[in-house]
Amino acid sequence: MEHKNCELCSNVGGELIASNDLLRVVRVHDEKYPAFCRVILNRHVTEMTHLSSDERYHLMDAVFIVERTMLDALNPRKINLASFGNMVSHLHWHVIPRFEDDPHFPNTIWGEQLRDSQRLVPAEFWGLLEKNISAQLSC
Ligand SMILES: [Zn+2]
Repeated sequence: MEHKNCELCSNVGGELIASNDLLRVVRVHDEKYPAFCRVILNRHVTEMTHLSSDERYHLMDAVFIVERTMLDALNPRKINLASFGNMVSHLHWHVIPRFEDDPHFPNTIWGEQLRDSQRLVPAEFWGLLEKNISAQLSC
C-alpha cells in the first residue's frame, strides 16, 4: 500500500541496482560515501517485526549479500548497517563501507565530520554487486 508523502513509496530512493517483488537495492549518490547502498522494502512497512519471518530472512539476506560484496571488493575497515526510519519510516537498511580515513570515521556518517577525504570505488564493484544481488533475488 502506498503511503501519502512517503518518499520511498513514491521514489526508487537511489539508482536501482536490482529488485524483486519484495525489495530493491539502490546505490545512494553520496559524494563522501560513493559505495553507500540501501536495501529498501518495496511496500510500506515500518518495523522489521511487521514482516513474516520469510520476508525478514530475504530482506536481511539481501543486506548481507551487499555487505559481503563490499567486504570482498572494497576491503573496508568495517561495514555499517543501519535502519532508523525516524525521518522516512518506510523500512530500509543502509549499508555503508567504512574506512579509517573516510570523512567521519570512527563516527557514524551522520555524526561530526572529522576530515575531508575522497575515495574512489573500483569500476568493477557495481557490476559485481549487480551480479551477486541479482543471483540472490531471483531465487
Ligand atoms: Zn512508504
